[in-house]
Amino acid sequence: MSDATAEKHVFQAEIQQLLDLVVHSLYTDREIFLRELISNASDAMEKLRHVEATEKDVHDAGLPLQVEIIADKEAGTLTIQDHGIGMTHDELVENLGTIAHSGTKAFLQAMKDSGKSPETMIGQFGVGFYSAFMVADEVKVFTRSWRKDGEGLVWTSDGTSGYEIEPAEGVARGTKIVLKLKEDQKEYAEEYRVKHLVETYSNFVGFPVMIDGKRVNEVEALWLKNKSEISDDEYKEFYKFQAKAFDEPQYRLHFSADAPLEINALVFVPSENPENMGFGKVDPGVALYCKKVLIDPEPKGLLPDWMRFLKGVIDSADLPLNISRETMQDSALVRKIGTVISKRVLKMFDKEADADPEKWRAFYKKFDRFFKEGVATDFANKEALAKLLRFETSMTEAGEVAGLKDYLSRAKDGQEEIYYIVGNSRDQIEASPYLEAFKTRGLEVIYFTDAVDEYVADSLAEFDGKKLRSITKGGVDLDDAEVEGEALSEEETTALCEFLKTEFGDKVTKVGAGKRLVDSPVVALVPEDAMTPQMRQMMKAMDENFSDEVKVELEINPRHELIKRLASAKDDNADLAKMVAGQLLDNALMAAGLLEDARDTVRRMNELMAKALG
Ligand code: ADP
Ligand code: MG
Repeated sequence: MSDATAEKHVFQAEIQQLLDLVVHSLYTDREIFLRELISNASDAMEKLRHVEATEKDVHDAGLPLQVEIIADKEAGTLTIQDHGIGMTHDELVENLGTIAHSGTKAFLQAMKDSGKSPETMIGQFGVGFYSAFMVADEVKVFTRSWRKDGEGLVWTSDGTSGYEIEPAEGVARGTKIVLKLKEDQKEYAEEYRVKHLVETYSNFVGFPVMIDGKRVNEVEALWLKNKSEISDDEYKEFYKFQAKAFDEPQYRLHFSADAPLEINALVFVPSENPENMGFGKVDPGVALYCKKVLIDPEPKGLLPDWMRFLKGVIDSADLPLNISRETMQDSALVRKIGTVISKRVLKMFDKEADADPEKWRAFYKKFDRFFKEGVATDFANKEALAKLLRFETSMTEAGEVAGLKDYLSRAKDGQEEIYYIVGNSRDQIEASPYLEAFKTRGLEVIYFTDAVDEYVADSLAEFDGKKLRSITKGGVDLDDAEVEGEALSEEETTALCEFLKTEFGDKVTKVGAGKRLVDSPVVALVPEDAMTPQMRQMMKAMDENFSDEVKVELEINPRHELIKRLASAKDDNADLAKMVAGQLLDNALMAAGLLEDARDTVRRMNELMAKALG
């Protein structure tokens, strides 16, 4: 390998680390290397098509766009050649020597985050170009860029520490990869073996794949075909190919229209949430094509951002071929296409959720964050999104969920609002005094227990013309309920309220008798515009000096034994009554998540206990 003209490079540390894993891992499905190399060839040819549509000066114009594979049993080599865009010297260094432009970045990240073994991870993600070193102990990449001023080059590496780049004679535009197979991997020099692999993994490559001169794959843009001519298996296979995915699609939308725009779209919904697997935010996965020419594999701004988990293809014959990624976002046409398809996607979700609610719930559980994000960010589709949300309520069993449509179908005649409560968990919510009034009146309350739910409720604000209303806040108007038990008289109640208001001063805005309570003596109602405890905690976590004093409205229960006794104690034993009153307020604040300093509470409690024991 060493030659005076060869230019030596060492791999970037991460690549080295990756190669180490790849070469030494005991991963059994080494055969995926071929899918990776064919997929790279296909990408390079898609790019070339785009270049040909937009540039005049393309080197070697007119070469056939196909993948040629040559299995040479005698030599023990496998060659994969394309006439795609090829690489310049700098691109070789950048693309094959650093992690910057490689799909393997995601792999390394996921490895670090998940702590799983490399074997399972290679299976889940593939490791791109470097998978070649699973079967080869030497890889040569002959390449010539489409650019007129390019040159023929050969990149050589044994996959241990570095690579060399040398000029090479007679290289056609594109890339030719020659694998010198390892002693125990010689099977990949057998034509039948390679043919089988192409049929299994690369059937949907949009270019002919030729083995020793014969075409082995079907070449077709599946999204342009008639639905009735496509089998479920073909759809699944296409999804795996196009999305480079290893899971099965959960739902799909195959949509065609001729007017007002000519659009063919094939959109898949994965079954695994990629953002739950240790990746950060993923890039959009529905590629944009114009008449089978790839314009942008990850178009930002085509579909609403929250739909970034979708995979597939949108092809519109109305797009100008030479639209650049930069101008794409400003194009009214692109926006129009995005609007049409996102409406269709939501309609598909709605239909699927109705058709098989169980399946929807299972799917929603994994993907709920996207839908919630949509409610908060995608104004045009808010109402359609709201229908898809699911949550526990006071009428579902623990762990079961319902949607807003279910909620309204069960609502009482004349119920004008949708009630909800924000809390950390179902148990915590059900132990709070707020629910009582709604339970006795048979009113359903939605439980928002996810950290982002409060934000979702705020953004949603209403559904089907009905306002969403937090039951921990003031301003909820409830009918009189028939409540059992003798209550204080009106005069007694007013006198007690006045006593309490004087006692609490401006710690409360108001003390009144209410209809909400059944089993609890008092409840603290938070002003309508106040933050919830969850939000307040978050603010505090972000800013240690954050403080906001919330003044509550106190509602007392004139039927409660404790309240009745307090009413007489205020005249007979004012000192004790004041102590009990203070304790009642603190208890109510505690239930509202508003008690910040419990020192006084504890001191008072101790005093009360001492009194109780005489
Ligand atoms: P990915 O395909 O996910 O980007 P790979 O590791 O498979 O990652 O490939 C790394 C990069 O090398 C590609 O992004 C591409 O720029 C370049 N490359 C690989 N194969 C080819 C090829 N046949 N023609 C042109 N460029 C290629
Ligand atoms: Mg690749």
